[in-house]
Formats: sequence, C-alpha cells, structure tokens
Amino acid sequence: MHAHPNRFHRRNVESITAEEIEVYRRSTMDLVVANISSDMAYDGGYVNRDGTEVERGEYKPAPGATYALSADRLARIQKTFDLGYAVHADKPIDVLEARANDQVAVMPALEGADALEGDIKNLHEMHKNGLRLIQLIHFRNNELGHTQTWPYSPGGLTEFGREVVQEANRLGIVIDMAHANEETVADILELSRHPVIFSHGGVREFTDHDRAVTDDQIRAIAEGGGIVGIWPHGSHISTVAEMVDYIEHVIKIGGVDHVGIGSDLRGVSKYVIGFDEQANFHAIAIELLNRGYSDEDVGKVMGGNFFRVWVTVSET
Ligand SMILES: [Zn+2]
Repeated sequence: MHAHPNRFHRRNVESITAEEIEVYRRSTMDLVVANISSDMAYDGGYVNRDGTEVERGEYKPAPGATYALSADRLARIQKTFDLGYAVHADKPIDVLEARANDQVAVMPALEGADALEGDIKNLHEMHKNGLRLIQLIHFRNNELGHTQTWPYSPGGLTEFGREVVQEANRLGIVIDMAHANEETVADILELSRHPVIFSHGGVREFTDHDRAVTDDQIRAIAEGGGIVGIWPHGSHISTVAEMVDYIEHVIKIGGVDHVGIGSDLRGVSKYVIGFDEQANFHAIAIELLNRGYSDEDVGKVMGGNFFRVWVTVSET
C-alpha cells in the first residue's frame, strides 16, 4: 500500500527501473503504490533533472515549484509504463490483466498533498496524468491538515482538505491518512463516503511512536471499511514474527478484512530482519500461515484487502 520503488522521486532517474520492478515481481506482488513525497520542495533531499543536488534544508518554494517537482516525478512513473517495465494501475482490472501477463502494476501516488498548492485544479490535472492514491499529509502541516510528527500543533482538516476528500471520493482516488494527526484522521473518517486507508504505521498497543494508531482509530478505520497497514520499519520492529504480532493486533481489534502491508520500500534505511531490502513479502505470508491463518485470510492481508478498497473507491 506504500512504497518508493527505486527511490525514483528523489534520485535523477528516467523512470523506475526494470531491476526494481523485478524485486516486486519476484516477491509475487501484483500491485505497487509508488509514492512521490510531495513536500520535497520544502525540505530538499532530491536531485533535479539537470543533475543539481538539492541538499536537505528548509526552503520556501516559489509558487508553482512544488507542483512542478511532483508533476516531473509523475511523468517519470509514466515513463516506466512507456518503457514497458510495468503497467499503469489505472483501474482495478488492469492489475488482474497485468498479473495474467506476469507483469507488475504500479499505482502513482502522492505522499503528502503539498503538491496541490491549495488548488483543486492541480488534483484534476494529476488525476488526468495517472494519480490514483493520495496521502493527504506528510511531515508538515500543509494546506489540507495537520501532521502527526513533531513539532505537533492541534487542528484537523482545513477547508481545502475537505474539498480534496470530497473530490477524491468523486474521482475514485484512494485516500491515505498515514502521517495525519488524530484530529485530521477523525475528520477524514467522518467526511469520506468511501473507505480510507492508513497505509504505513504501527499500533499503540506495542509502541508509543507517534506514527502508531490507537485501538479506537483501528476500530473507526475498520468500521468505515478501511485498512491499517503495518510498516516493517527496522527501527521500530525487529523481526517478521514481531511484525505479524502487529498484524494480529489489528485483526483482533478491527478484523482480518482491515489490515494490510505498507512496506515503505526504499523509504527507510532499515527493515525488519527477514523482510530486508529484498522485500521478502513471502516471509510475512509464511509466518501468518504458520500461525494457522487460512490461505484466504493471508491473501487478504497481503493485498486482497487493499484491492477490495480500491474496487469500492473506484466504483464511485
Ligand atoms: Zn511515510
């Protein structure tokens, strides 16, 4: 439900590479959500097309620059399809067709809707250019709402945030609440007429990390038909078995239809042992099978639930 294949959005690569897509194909993943961190223009850490490196720092991007940077990265995802390395996950059926042809489907996504720069026309333009999932908030309080990351400030969805939720519902774009603070999550859940996901995080039961969800949030997300995605971040969880404890906690509170995996592949520097940089999704499935879950339930966790949400969202 959440990855940065190839770290393509920060590096100066023409497209996501064929080798990187192969990592997913080998792990029998049918669909990869490729995220552009659209707040990059505010904090650097990326390379421009002319090869100039933008160091980490604090920036005040000129009007239009944040959108332009993400639009450029979106074009690079499109290039991945033009080169035949992967198939655009435009509609759910495309994933099934790609799978039948032994190909991987890629869903273009924004991590943080900062790229919209507060203008709904930018959402329309990006949707036209292939965007199918939008995580509203990343590391800063943006035009839409408030982050869960320090320095904290109170507040939920803004007027523009509300407009984006309603428009995403209308267009059939999946909404992702990861990184949003509790008030913003509550506002999204109340407003969205479709299920919403929380793509990558932990659970408060086992960690007090600010990116973890409370049991009440798990219940609310599940009641709306959505999903909590568990994040195999090696600094928070050490082994695949421990990761599956997290998955089981969400199953206990919200049910097996409301959990998934947000690998964040290439987004963090360290993964749980046994999953690793090679994205060993099989290890998670095997651990679930060893704990007695049925093939059907394991399929739901490994991606079936997310696919169901997308089908629901796209049938607007
Ligand atoms: Zn993230």
